[in-house]
Amino acid sequence: MNNYRKIYLSYHPELKGKIPKGYIIHHIDGNRKNNDISNLKMMTKLEHDRLHNCGKKRIFTEEWKNNMSKAHLGKEPHNKGKKTNEETKIKISEANKGKIPWNKGKKGIYSEETLKKISDTLRGNKNAANTTKPDSI
Ligand SMILES: [Zn+2]
Repeated sequence: MNNYRKIYLSYHPELKGKIPKGYIIHHIDGNRKNNDISNLKMMTKLEHDRLHNCGKKRIFTEEWKNNMSKAHLGKEPHNKGKKTNEETKIKISEANKGKIPWNKGKKGIYSEETLKKISDTLRGNKNAANTTKPDSI
């Protein structure tokens, strides 16, 4: 076990047979069976973790992306359909709501008096056109 450590240590007598605390022997080519001294590198555990986590992260990210896009592809039509239905429902109900208050509002805004005034004005304009002329003359 940990043959590569022994190999590394045998090439680094200054370490006195001990990998310093917090340090680790890393296989440069990622092949743990390749215990050639040229493939062994001592680095801090932090560096090593970062190195390996980066690789994992990249793979993970791609996997994650794929999963996400798959999930998205699966979800989107589902949500879109739901949304469309909900939106359509809302729009319909809003349109229905809108139609009634719009008419109601009109009736409300233009009270019967106002409507009379309006219709009077419309009529009155015609009449006015007829009546003002003789009046002004
Ligand atoms: Zn490593």
